[in-house]
Amino acid sequence: MMDSSVQLQDVYRARQRLAGQVRRTPLVSSESLAAVTGSPVHLKLEHLQVTGSFKVRGATNALANLADAAKQRGVVGVSTGNHGRGLAYAAAQAGVRAVICMSKLVPKNKVEAIRALGADVRIIGQSQDEAQVEVDRLVTEEGLTMLPPFDHADVIAGQATLGLELVEDLPDLDTVLVPLSGGGLISGVALAVKTACPRARVVGLTMRRGAAMYESIKAGHPVPVEEAESLADSLGGGIGMENRYTFAMVRSLVDDIQLLDEDRIAAGIRHAYFEERQVVEGAAAVGIAALLDDMVPQPGITAVILSGANIDTTAHARLMADGPPNRRSD
Ligand SMILES: *Cc1c(COP(=O)(O)O)cnc(C)c1O
Repeated sequence: MMDSSVQLQDVYRARQRLAGQVRRTPLVSSESLAAVTGSPVHLKLEHLQVTGSFKVRGATNALANLADAAKQRGVVGVSTGNHGRGLAYAAAQAGVRAVICMSKLVPKNKVEAIRALGADVRIIGQSQDEAQVEVDRLVTEEGLTMLPPFDHADVIAGQATLGLELVEDLPDLDTVLVPLSGGGLISGVALAVKTACPRARVVGLTMRRGAAMYESIKAGHPVPVEEAESLADSLGGGIGMENRYTFAMVRSLVDDIQLLDEDRIAAGIRHAYFEERQVVEGAAAVGIAALLDDMVPQPGITAVILSGANIDTTAHARLMADGPPNRRSD
């Protein structure tokens, strides 16, 4: 196997820990996207996960692996929203104190959702990096354990359980389309999928603005990117200059990374609603958007991960007022 510290047995162990704590989400076929690509397309409805995104998988697994003394002191996370929500939920389930630090760019609906889960929310600075300063203080001064959103072996193993579900439901899959930011989801999914289906293609999709992993892979090492507002707000943030796991895993396991413009992400969200009757956030719509624009050549039997549902309802309604999307080629 590849040279990484996340092994398949970690993924199976994660699945045992997650049983009864998170949902096994459905896989449904999409006739409308099959008509676009000319081959079967299946949607992994992970936006129906508890807390509205897959992040709760990694957070639950990482929390379960902590020593009792660390659980007693509590955990801290820095988050654009969904990791904070997943971590807050997992901590509440385990009876552990959680402090969530985030930047001012995070939409209000996400902040409120995290507060409602009983976490202590602190809003600091303009970027995740600035929020990180407060995290470091809580770790040194109050002894909290920091659980990161993607670059952690237990988090990756937790996200990988989604990949196990995919290959069980679709053992002959050819292509998996995965939303990509820090790379925890795609690293885990690629590990599980490529073990079961070595010939399957794993494609990462992200927004053109601030595509941290894409730029880092191109440069050959982690590079910083400027954070910008995007419809795919859950894909914002850097990969960390001291990246330990996901950069190497993406480099060795991911076949391709494609970038999407804002109007195409909007088209993906609208397609999800009008054609699939699913409410998804921008980050979750990138796979659909890529198929609508023929960005993945000869995809074959395809699985598209709809990674999250946490979009501001007013913003969603405004997008839906434009009606169903046209394909770019129309
Ligand atoms: C975090 C997140 C992603 C990206 O996951 P990474 O592990 O950071 O690559 C995609 N979609 C949603 C909804 C997310 O919350």
